[in-house]
Amino acid sequence: MRYCQTCRFELSKRGFKRHTLSVLHRKGKLIRAMLERDCITHAEIARRIGLTRERVRQLALLMGFADGRSRHAICRMERRKKEMAEFFLEAQKRGFAVEPLGTRSAYINGKLCIQRQACWHDVGSKEHKYTFLSIRQPTVRFDICAWKLPDGRFLILPKKLTGFRQTTFNPEESERPGTASSSHYYRDYIERWSLLGRPRRARG
Ligand SMILES: [Zn+2]
Repeated sequence: MRYCQTCRFELSKRGFKRHTLSVLHRKGKLIRAMLERDCITHAEIARRIGLTRERVRQLALLMGFADGRSRHAICRMERRKKEMAEFFLEAQKRGFAVEPLGTRSAYINGKLCIQRQACWHDVGSKEHKYTFLSIRQPTVRFDICAWKLPDGRFLILPKKLTGFRQTTFNPEESERPGTASSSHYYRDYIERWSLLGRPRRARG
């Protein structure tokens, strides 16, 4: 047996000479480079190299790559990750395993999580005018919703605390305590990542 350094697999001594003349060997590095990128399909590689799709499939197998269907699934996953909302990227940074379902929803530790945006909202009029953050109840199914606050932090609430249609709260400690909006317990849920459970790996 002889080992081809370029293609990284073994061949019989007999087949080696023929192999060095083959398209695979001559374009081995290129084929490998393309196979390493999951979003390039076997059909696309076949077209670029001038082989049949079936031959590319065989070569991929020989070179130890995932089959076309898994490549497609991995590609879709990678693309979704690239488009993921900030909450999921942040969760990933914190060591949670995030399985994206779209750009604004994902499973984290088996919990269906979504991201929404909190907006500034004026309450009252004239001298009794206060600015609070406004959040709306999502209309889709979810277990945990994270509202991105204008300062970049996240208000993380479980479903059972979202019985409102639309509500306002003050993200900071207020000098005027007493009213529901100014002394709201939602403040305690800002950056409450523990609601997602335990991260799978240590933060690194
Ligand atoms: Zn070779």
